[in-house]
Amino acid sequence: MTNILFEDAKPIIKKIKEQGFEAYFVGGSVRDYLMNKDIHDIDITTSATPDEIESIFPKTVPIGKEHGTINVLFNNSSYEITTFRTEEEYVNHRKPNGVVFVRDLYEDVKRRDFTINAIAMDEEYTIIDYFNGKADIEAENIKTVGHAEERFEEDALRIIRGLRFQSQLAFTLDNKTFEGMQSKIQNIEYLSIERIIVEFKKLFSGKNVAVSYNNLIRLNAFAYIPFFSSYNMTKININEPLPFNLFIALIQHKLTNDNAQLSHLKISNNEKKEIQTYNNLLNSLQNINTKQQLKLLIYDYGLHYNLTILSYSETLKLNEITLPSPIIYNEQLIREVAHEMPINNRSDIDISGKDLIDSLKQRSGPWIKEALRNIEIAIIDGQLTNFKPKILEWVKEHVKI
Ligand code: ATP
Ligand code: MG
Repeated sequence: MTNILFEDAKPIIKKIKEQGFEAYFVGGSVRDYLMNKDIHDIDITTSATPDEIESIFPKTVPIGKEHGTINVLFNNSSYEITTFRTEEEYVNHRKPNGVVFVRDLYEDVKRRDFTINAIAMDEEYTIIDYFNGKADIEAENIKTVGHAEERFEEDALRIIRGLRFQSQLAFTLDNKTFEGMQSKIQNIEYLSIERIIVEFKKLFSGKNVAVSYNNLIRLNAFAYIPFFSSYNMTKININEPLPFNLFIALIQHKLTNDNAQLSHLKISNNEKKEIQTYNNLLNSLQNINTKQQLKLLIYDYGLHYNLTILSYSETLKLNEITLPSPIIYNEQLIREVAHEMPINNRSDIDISGKDLIDSLKQRSGPWIKEALRNIEIAIIDGQLTNFKPKILEWVKEHVKI
């Protein structure tokens, strides 16, 4: 069987070989191909040095040249080509900057984390499998290349990666690999939180997350990770894939109200905002008993977040978070209310703060915000039409300054 992505990349491998070097597909794409799964991106490994790759291809970007990776632009696609390299020496659990390039494929695959990720394949789909990765794919087994304890000592991120693959692929962890994880779990504290989160996002969206999450708890992994280490994570139960940000919001909602802790995750402001939105929504849900209240909830948080929360009701239940009654909080009603919403945000109101100041002949102040909130509530409630003269009339009657 062939695959379109590999077919497209074949000429690259051929070109490198024409110059007398070796080149192979490697890593996740080969693993996924052997599992008959969709392939998203292709990694190529080669005996050519980055300088040699740059001289072979006219369009290149040195994205990680010091580590051996060059991006080659070819037929409107871009391919990561990395020079064979050996496991670098680790000092104080950190990778030093220098890397050692080698000319031997075996040395390159030997430094890779798991046997299922250490399979190389040439352009004729011939497999070069020094560590029996194919047999481990067939046995659905996650096993380190070489001695587990040593490999996790070199780089503890591999522990999290192993659990991430267990979640995504629904494979079992080899016994020795799990024991290696147990003995090196404390080393997680040396990792940067950014690297952990990249893997966590994949772990939490994997179909087998229930088992992987359980293993994170069994290994006491959270105790060594910033943010999570402040909480009793055994109180959080996960048995279905969910967005990472919702997972964080769940922790916040159940175990803390301290937003400052979020900064330890070093995530973007947008992500923080999303977590806050989930958390505020979870708090607001506790008071929804009528359709009027539902309308305001959907106005405030939008259709997307409400449907997302609703779709994770099993997880919420499992964590003892109660949703409003299904008579009020169900997909049909949520969609209907969203569809009939007279305004979607404050800028849709047919009046501005300035209009209020002018017509009420008042000085600017906090009353404006309060008045606008009351106006939007009245519009959403259906008590007030979103039409400037009507709103002004209503304001004169209802707004006390
Ligand atoms: P995905 O399909 O999610 O991209 P992947 O296996 O390609 O999975 P990547 O993180 O893209 O994972 O890494 C590419 C390859 O690089 C891996 O398959 C593995 O061979 C190697 N690798 C990545 N991280 C490590 C690590 N920390 N230690 C050893 N090898 C690693
Ligand atoms: Mg990859």
